[in-house]
Amino acid sequence: MNTGEKEATGHLLDALATEPEPATEPSSLEGRGALVTGGSRGIGRAVVVALAQSGANVAFNYLDTGPESRQSAAETKDEACAQGVEVFASAGDVRDAAAAEDFVDEARGRLGGLHILVNNAGVGRDRALWHMTPEEWRTVIDTNLSGAFYFIRAVAPLFRAQQFGKIVNISSVHGFCAEFGLANYCSSKAGLAGLTRSAATELGPSNVNVNAVAPGYIRTTELTARVPAEIMDRARERSVLGRLGDPQDVASVVLFLCSEAARHVTGVVLPVDGGYLV
Ligand code: NDP
Repeated sequence: MNTGEKEATGHLLDALATEPEPATEPSSLEGRGALVTGGSRGIGRAVVVALAQSGANVAFNYLDTGPESRQSAAETKDEACAQGVEVFASAGDVRDAAAAEDFVDEARGRLGGLHILVNNAGVGRDRALWHMTPEEWRTVIDTNLSGAFYFIRAVAPLFRAQQFGKIVNISSVHGFCAEFGLANYCSSKAGLAGLTRSAATELGPSNVNVNAVAPGYIRTTELTARVPAEIMDRARERSVLGRLGDPQDVASVVLFLCSEAARHVTGVVLPVDGGYLV
C-alpha cells in the first residue's frame, strides 16, 4: 500500500469510527413514545395495539363522528392499555394545523417523550371525476395529504432537536396505480409518496427515518366496506398471493419501519399488497 492509499484508508476508518453503534435490541420499542393519527379503528387500531405490544407508549386521535366513533376509540384504548403502557386518546381533526401542534405537545407531555409518528388517518370520497365536487376533492386531499404534512411539520423541531425520530406514512397501492372513481384518493396517496421522499431528504441529516407503506385492499375496515364486492374479488385475483390483507399485515410492517431493525431504511414507499402491484 503506498502513502496515498494508506491515507485514504485511514480517512475511511476514521469515518467508520464515528458511525453510531447498531441498536442492541433492534425490534424493541420499549420506552418510546408514538403518535398515530386515526388510530381508533381499522389499520390505525392495529398499529396502535402493535406499538403497545412492543412496549411503546401511544397517543392516537380520531375524528369523532358520533357514538360509534367514540366507542371504537374506547375499545382501542382499552386494548392498548392492557399491554401495560401509557395510552392517550383524543378527538381531533388532522385537517387543522394548529390542532396538530397542540396534540403533538400534549402527547409528548403525557407519554414522557415522542419518537414515532404514524400518519394513518385517511378517507375516501369516491366518484367519477366529472361528478366529483370540489368539496369531495378537498376533503380527501386535506385529510390524507395535508394532514400528514401538518403532523410532520409539528414533530420536526422535536425530532431534529433530539436527533432521533421515525415517521411512517400510510399511503396506498392507489398512489401507484389508478382505479375508476378515485382521482382525489389516488392524488392524495401519490402526493404522500412525494412528501415521504421530501421529508426523508430534509430530516435524514437529523437521524430521522421517513418511510411509507402502500397497502393493497385490506379486509374488515370501514373504508373498504363501501367498495363493491366485484372490485374486492378482482383485487384478490390480482394479488399474486391470492388473498386480501388484514390490518395486522400492515401493522407489522409499520412496526418494523419504526424499529432500529430498519435504521438504514429511509425515503421508501413499501407496498404491503400481497403482490397486487407485481
Ligand atoms: P378506517 O376508515 O377504518 O379508519 C379511519 C380512521 O381515521 C378512523 O380512526 C377515523 O376516525 C380517522 N379519521 C378520519 N378522518 C380523520 C380526520 N380528519 N382527523 C382525524 N382522524 C380522522 O380506515 P382504514 O383503516 O381502512 O385506513 C387507514 C389508512 O390506510 C388510510 O390512510 C387509508 O387511506 C389507508 N389504506 C387503507 C386501505 C384499505 O383497504 N382499508 C388500503 C390502502 C390504504 P373516526 O372513526 O372518528 O371517523
